[in-house]
Amino acid sequence: MSVHFSAGFRADAPVAGIRFGVGARAETGFEVENLGCARAVVLATPDQRAQAEELAESMGNLAVGVIATAAMHTPVDISEAAVEECRTLGVDCLVAMGGGSSIGLGKAIALRTDLPVIAVPTTYAGSEATPVIGQSEGGQKTTLTDMRVQPQRIVYDPELVATLPVGLSVTSGLNAVAHAAEAFYARDRNPLATSLAIAGIRLFAVGLPKVIDSPADLEARGDTLMGTWHCGAVLGQVGMALHHKLCHVLGGTFGLPHAAVHAIVLPHAIAYNEVAVPNLLAPLAEVLGAEKAGQGLFDLSARLGAPQALTEIGFGEDEIEQAVTQALQNSYWNPRELTASGLTALLRDAVAGRRPQS
Ligand code: NAD
Repeated sequence: MSVHFSAGFRADAPVAGIRFGVGARAETGFEVENLGCARAVVLATPDQRAQAEELAESMGNLAVGVIATAAMHTPVDISEAAVEECRTLGVDCLVAMGGGSSIGLGKAIALRTDLPVIAVPTTYAGSEATPVIGQSEGGQKTTLTDMRVQPQRIVYDPELVATLPVGLSVTSGLNAVAHAAEAFYARDRNPLATSLAIAGIRLFAVGLPKVIDSPADLEARGDTLMGTWHCGAVLGQVGMALHHKLCHVLGGTFGLPHAAVHAIVLPHAIAYNEVAVPNLLAPLAEVLGAEKAGQGLFDLSARLGAPQALTEIGFGEDEIEQAVTQALQNSYWNPRELTASGLTALLRDAVAGRRPQS
C-alpha cells in the first residue's frame, strides 16, 4: 500500500541534523565545534560511565567532564543537581550519550539552561528526535513539549547500539515501533509521518531478527538504528494516544521497565483501536504481512521472543483496576472511545499474554 501526497498536508519536518555511520562517534567533537561550543559535558547513566568517559577522552579538550547520574523517567532532583554541576564546570554544550534516560537528562538540563544538546543514542527509544520531555517528581510523571529540549545534532553510531543486550534490543525496538504504530491514526496524522512510520517499522521487522541471530552484525544494527530515527521523527511530529498513555501509567505509577511495557501492551492497544479505524491501520497490517495490525504486532513480538505477558514484568491481575482508573483520569484524544470495561479487557489480555482476538 502506498501513501499519497497529492491531497496536500501540513507537517513539522524533523529538525535535528544527523551524522550516521559505523565509528561516527569519533566526530562528536567536530559537532561540538560546529555548534560554536568548546566546553562540553558528557551525560550518561551510572551503567554507561565507562563508555561516556571513553567518548569524553576522544573529544580531547572539548570535553570538560562526565556526569553519569541519569535515571529512568528523568527525576527532577537528579536534573537540578546536574544543572549545578554544569554551572560549576562552565559547560557550554551537552553531549547526552545513551538511551532515553541519558537523553532525558540532557533535555532536562537544556530546559533549565538553554544549552544545546548533541544526542549520541545507544538504544532504539528515539527520544533524540523529539522535542518532548517526561520528568518525574514525587511519584508523578509529567510530559511537556518544548523546542529548547530538542537535540540540535544526533550522532548515530551502530557500534554503540551493538552492545545493547539482545533482550533489551528487542523490547527497545518494539518501543520504537510503538511510536510509529500510533502515527497511523493520530489526530494530526499526515502522509509524511505515515511514510516515515512505514519505513521505520519495515526496518525493524526485517532488522531485529538479524540482530537476534547476530547481535554484533553492524549492518543489521545500522538498519535498526536508521529505523530508530524514522520512528523517533514520527513521535516528534504527531500526537500519540491510548498506547502511550497506558504505558505512561504502567511505567510511571507501577515502576515497570519502559521498553518491556511498550513491547507487551502495543498489540493490545492497537487491536483496541483497530475496531474503530481498521482502514487507517491497514498499511500497518500490510507492512507486517498480517490481516490485522494488532495480531500482526503480537505475532512479530512472539517471533522475536519478546515478553508477552505483563505478569512477566511484575504486574498482576489485581492491579488492573487501579491502572484503568488512572488511565481514564485525564481525558485525552483517542480514535476509539475509552471505557473502563474496554480497558479492563485490554489489560486482562496483556496480563495473560493472550493474542488479541480482533
Ligand atoms: P534507558 O536509557 O533507561 O536504558 C536502559 C538501560 O540500558 C540503562 O541501564 C542503560 O545504561 C543501558 N544501556 C543503554 N544503552 C546500552 C548499550 N548500548 N549497551 C549496554 N547497555 C545499555 O532506556 P530507554 O528505553 O532507552 O529509555 C527509557 C526512558 O526514555 C524512559 O524514561 C522514557 O520515558 C524515555 N523516553 C523518552 C522519549 C521522548 O521523546 N521524550 C522517547 C522514548 C523514551
